[in-house]
Amino acid sequence: MKSKKTLGLICVILTLFLSGCGPQSKAEHRTDVVMGTLMQQTLYIQGENDNITREIFGLSDELEKDFLSKRVEGSEVFLINSRSGSAFRVSDRMKEMINNCMQVSEASEGAFDIFHGRLVQLWDIDSAATKEVQDYKPPVKTAIDEALKTGGYQNVQMQENALSLQEFCLLDPGAVGKGIALDEIAAYLRDKPEITGASVSVGGSVLVYGIKPDKSPWCIGITDPFNKKGQLGFLEIKEECYIATSGDYERFAMGNGKVYHHILDPATGYPADNGVKSVTIVSREGWLSDALSTACFVLGTEKGLVLAEEFGSEALFVTADGQILMTEGMKSLFRQTKP
Ligand code: FAD
Ligand code: MG
Repeated sequence: MKSKKTLGLICVILTLFLSGCGPQSKAEHRTDVVMGTLMQQTLYIQGENDNITREIFGLSDELEKDFLSKRVEGSEVFLINSRSGSAFRVSDRMKEMINNCMQVSEASEGAFDIFHGRLVQLWDIDSAATKEVQDYKPPVKTAIDEALKTGGYQNVQMQENALSLQEFCLLDPGAVGKGIALDEIAAYLRDKPEITGASVSVGGSVLVYGIKPDKSPWCIGITDPFNKKGQLGFLEIKEECYIATSGDYERFAMGNGKVYHHILDPATGYPADNGVKSVTIVSREGWLSDALSTACFVLGTEKGLVLAEEFGSEALFVTADGQILMTEGMKSLFRQTKP
């Protein structure tokens, strides 16, 4: 009799232990279009709360429409650009974004620069890529030189919340917007104790949060830049972090037998051409992972590896000749086959 009771008690303790000492988490999935790309959520939730994935979509959508979009009239970026040439009082979150990005601009000697919006507009690879243009004509050199002269973070003054852009200097947050969205999503999740784990991707940027119900590491695939449908390998992630990838295969237009991709080198005014096919960054902040993936793509392997480490981040480069180069910390996360 006594041994039956003991056995029952052991069973209860084992069940509680295996279920994480609480009710089993339920997986919720949702896919939306945000910032011109797919946002995919997988959330592990304890108890009933079907609203969270919808709320996460809502906050990302609002971030795009009210704050980040250069296309939506009335967003803060749109208003800043429409007042280019005069002073503008920005919100605290805009001040934070600009100050953060300027740090990366300075450290990368301008390879990363969100104030080259006019150059980005001139190339307009986004719309050519969406339309799969085959006869793309690059802008003329004089127009490129003019955009380079008026754009760039050197043509921007920021004093507390007072921002002033030189005339024709435009803000384009395309290289950090998805990472900023992931930072806001993580802050939201931290206020929701019922969320035990989450992975959220917006295009090539991913947030990994909390733990999986079976406590196994998160496994994040890295796209093979030579075959967009395949995977080069996987990152085995055990703690909260942000993973961003920039590549020449993401958005491009074809013309004159050439491929023109969307990541521009402010040193030349042309698509970056430093022998890199893709860069994946792992950081502690979303905006930083996104900024560094773009910066490292422009800088190339040698300077890019140094820059990533300077910002406490890990980097994996795939070069145009098929080599894979990584920081030391990335080597301990990278697996060629699925763990
Ligand atoms: P990343 O390397 O992260 O960024 C490349 C992008 O950053 C370029 O497209 C350009 O915008 C900019 N850039 C280029 N060179 C540099 C540089 N040296 N330094 C800094 N920045 C640089 N796309 C659509 O097709 N339709 C939309 O409606 C749309 N809306 C968007 C709304 C928001 C708020 C954001 C953030 C993006 C949106 N996009 C949209 C996508 C956007 O235009 C970019 O193409 C996309 O963000 C590129 O991301 P990536 O990860 O491929 O490349
Ligand atoms: Mg980026």
